[in-house]
Amino acid sequence: MSTNTQRLVILGAAESGVGAALLGRQQGWDVFVSDGGKIKEHFKEALQQQGIAFEEGGHTIENILNANCIVKSPGISNKVAVIRQVREAGIEVCSEIEFAYRYKGDSKIIAITGSNGKSTTTKLTYHLLQKGGFDVAMVGNIGYSFARQIAERPCEWYVIEVSSFQLDDIHQFRPDVAVLLNITPDHLDRYDYKFENYIASKFRITENQHTTDRFIVNKDDKVITQYISTHSIHAKIIYFTMDENNIEIENDGGHIHDSRMYIQYEGESMDMSIHDLAIKGKHNQYNSMAAGISARTAGLRSEKLRENFAGFEGIEHRLEYVATVRGVTFINDSKATNVNSVWFALESMTQPVILILGGQDKGNDYNELMELVREKVKAIICIGVDNAPIHEAFKNVVEPIIDTNIMSDTVNAAYALAEKGDVVLLSPACASFDLFKNYEDRGQQFKAAVRNL
Ligand code: ADP
Repeated sequence: MSTNTQRLVILGAAESGVGAALLGRQQGWDVFVSDGGKIKEHFKEALQQQGIAFEEGGHTIENILNANCIVKSPGISNKVAVIRQVREAGIEVCSEIEFAYRYKGDSKIIAITGSNGKSTTTKLTYHLLQKGGFDVAMVGNIGYSFARQIAERPCEWYVIEVSSFQLDDIHQFRPDVAVLLNITPDHLDRYDYKFENYIASKFRITENQHTTDRFIVNKDDKVITQYISTHSIHAKIIYFTMDENNIEIENDGGHIHDSRMYIQYEGESMDMSIHDLAIKGKHNQYNSMAAGISARTAGLRSEKLRENFAGFEGIEHRLEYVATVRGVTFINDSKATNVNSVWFALESMTQPVILILGGQDKGNDYNELMELVREKVKAIICIGVDNAPIHEAFKNVVEPIIDTNIMSDTVNAAYALAEKGDVVLLSPACASFDLFKNYEDRGQQFKAAVRNL
């Protein structure tokens, strides 16, 4: 090792960590990867192929504290002992998007964050640009990590899905276009149970932006507008809204009026019927406006925009239609891991609902659902290890509330209660890790159980 080789230590070897390792190696860093748990086989192979040193099942602290820079996986909490030691030692810690940013060259970035809708909006923005002939990649929580994409196939444009955890350790990361979809309480366990810490983390997406950059935000979100009214934002703010009182026809932005979506940008305007959007529900109208404005700011022409919206079908596990069995419709919304996304799912339902709720609760306040549950939900089937908070919240509102802990029982119980014309909606408001590998596994098991009916 030459004396001026810088040492890069990566903590956590999943998609973002391995991406950072590959990029670091390519850029001449002396890379070491350390994972407290087991590393998946395909990630190990990727590291081995590049001759990158790694360890798993624990951290050897002396091989970590000699780093010049540490890339921390977004999944690792600051409370973990190794991170505390690293911070105490004063070593620079950055997130993977921060590290990748330094090697992005002249490329441009659209970065999308929010409590809900990130994946959908990221995928839709990517779809609009890719169909429009842009040299674009979709990175972050969906697809490759930003770092890996830069290492393996750099593009002119990146649409990045950015979580608050990724934003926690940025320093220079500066998107040309930043999107903030909404902010509702989520992941509070990682923010000292203080909502204001989580809000501040989300707003970091714009902290390095200049006046020439764009910040696309939801004007109907009171948390967002309140923060903006009390903080200085450098970027040019562009709003989207569906509240008639918030519409400013003369400005750039997006709005919904009389079931039509309008997108205006630099003198060009586009409008289309919301019924022509393949993805349904109010939340998806918000996502569509955010994606549409982003694509326009990137240079996609209005006429292309309308055309490209038409071909977007949505993504698996987000209000995904599964099947109709003897008149009962089954919908898989397994990705709904917080209360707000369940609110939007219920809001978009037009038939009586049998709601499947439960899992690992991140501090949910079910009161927000009360009105919609009262109006639309005829039964709740719980699927979680601890269903007590759900019983407590809804015991005077819904009857019956049934406990299950295997997906086949859950679906059978829901089906037994359902009548022709009802919807069985898996929209759990909780993380899945108590009974499933992840939300995808939960959604797959739901779909398999429905097919077995
Ligand atoms: P994220 O990547 O932020 O978790 P997804 O696009 O994967 O968001 O959607 C997660 C869940 O939130 C799904 O249940 C989806 O139906 C719901 N959802 C999507 N967009 C929004 C939105 N703008 N507001 C509220 N809920 C949404």
